Amino acid sequence: MNQNPIAMVDLRGGYLAQQPDIDGAIKRVMESGWYILGQECAAFERDFAAWCGVSHAVGVGNGTDAIVIALRALGVGAGDAVFTVSHTAVATVAAVELAGATPVLVDIDPASFTLDPQKLEDAIRAFAASGAAGRPRAVIAVHLYGHPCDLRAIGDICRRHGVFLIEDCAQAHGAAIGGTRVGAFGDIASFSFYPTKNLGAFGDGGAVVTNDRMLAERAAALRQYGWKERYLSDLKGMNTRLDEIQAAMLGVRLARLDTESKTRREIADRYDAGLLAALTTPKVRAGTRHAYHLYVVRHARRDGLAAALKTAGIGSGVHYPVPIHLQNAYAGRIAMAASGLQETERAAAEVLSLPMHPFLSDGDVARVIAEVLAWTRV
Ligand SMILES: *Cc1c(COP(=O)(O)O)cnc(C)c1O
Repeated sequence: MNQNPIAMVDLRGGYLAQQPDIDGAIKRVMESGWYILGQECAAFERDFAAWCGVSHAVGVGNGTDAIVIALRALGVGAGDAVFTVSHTAVATVAAVELAGATPVLVDIDPASFTLDPQKLEDAIRAFAASGAAGRPRAVIAVHLYGHPCDLRAIGDICRRHGVFLIEDCAQAHGAAIGGTRVGAFGDIASFSFYPTKNLGAFGDGGAVVTNDRMLAERAAALRQYGWKERYLSDLKGMNTRLDEIQAAMLGVRLARLDTESKTRREIADRYDAGLLAALTTPKVRAGTRHAYHLYVVRHARRDGLAAALKTAGIGSGVHYPVPIHLQNAYAGRIAMAASGLQETERAAAEVLSLPMHPFLSDGDVARVIAEVLAWTRV
């Protein structure tokens, strides 16, 4: 029983896998004498945009600010309603309010845990007809856990209603629909490089990506006091910059991301094969590639399973236990979709994330499967 613990994530593993290159990147920046918005950030922005298959990337301080910047670059703010999900990281909804707009929360499709297109359309219509203050201006599609939203349907709805589409790709680096990577579908998209994300920095970081040059220019100005030129503020800006050391290290990590994503998919395949008979495993919509930021199963007695895994030295997590509309900070203030949020509340009670990172061994994966199966049999 004295087996090694198996953790949800292994951030140190990410450093050790590329230690000489990461140490070299840090040293290069330290010796350059230039620490904020220099050639490292510019080089990473070029590489990351190319990797995403878009024409522009703008590095910012974190994934929350990336969403704020995306909204503000589009001109979305006070008096505007932004439709998104309640089953997400609180950052998605916090960013809408930080931009001055009003979040309207819509239920999820229980198979993919992502925004339900039909309920989105119902919510936009109901909101417009309700006489509530604010006009529908944008949708934030969150590719939760790494599963791409149904962007074909959501994109159609956005066009029909004349609202912007923003993709929150914080959990979905490299997820794809029909071979096109997420981030390339919306008007603009946000990424986070928080250390646990699939492309993680060793500190905070984020980016917005877009094919629209004007939006990229506005984002670049907004991240630094609204400057178009030094000391000349064209816009009311923020200070949310990606620093040179993080950018240099992200460049190193990006070179290994496809390999790590492949490993995540192989682990997910093994979990699928081992666990499908015992509980509900992730379903991947046909034609899409899941990035497996998290491997999330469902079970009505989720807390019991988490406790059993803990006893066996296996980490797990709940993403997320309290939907945004039930959080103290946001309860009551948020205009709610007419269709209700039943699937969101059911998911919050049933989801459990199993260990998922590129440094799990075959033995680790087998042990997680065996412990889950043993628990479901008692
Ligand atoms: C992590 C995350 C964010 C916020 O990113 P930070 O870098 O932590 O600010 C936003 N949305 C989702 C879905 C996330 O998972």
